[in-house]
Amino acid sequence: MTDTFTKKKRSDIMRAVKSKGNKSTELKLIEIFKLHNLTGWRRNYPAFGKPDFAFPKLKIVVFADGCFWHGHNCRNTKPSSNAEYWNKKIGRNKKRDKLVTKTLREKGWTVIRLWECEINKNKYRRKLKKLIDASKNNLSEK
Ligand SMILES: [Zn+2]
Repeated sequence: MTDTFTKKKRSDIMRAVKSKGNKSTELKLIEIFKLHNLTGWRRNYPAFGKPDFAFPKLKIVVFADGCFWHGHNCRNTKPSSNAEYWNKKIGRNKKRDKLVTKTLREKGWTVIRLWECEINKNKYRRKLKKLIDASKNNLSEK
């Protein structure tokens, strides 16, 4: 397999892509939480698989998955070069995602995975419904 980047260079590129992609998506999601009066979320909550957001009281975790890194079948995910390298890497990420979702569910968490493109195009409502409903129920119990 041909590889035009050195290892060091490649890891620099990957880090740059990853941090940039994640950050804006996560900020957008925080805006969405505010819009729907969702409170009580935590970052860096110590649950398996490091969910992007956890609502410990509601026992719900939310992942914001970058389309490229997690292999969404949308236009964001077609590597233009070194396809073999990327497909392997993305394949591993997808396997890992499945394991994380399964493990968290076994531990009693409700797992919501949103794609980056769903968040950016405001197509998150159906998936977030569980969270929004649980949050309302939690508030009305008080
Ligand atoms: Zn996507």
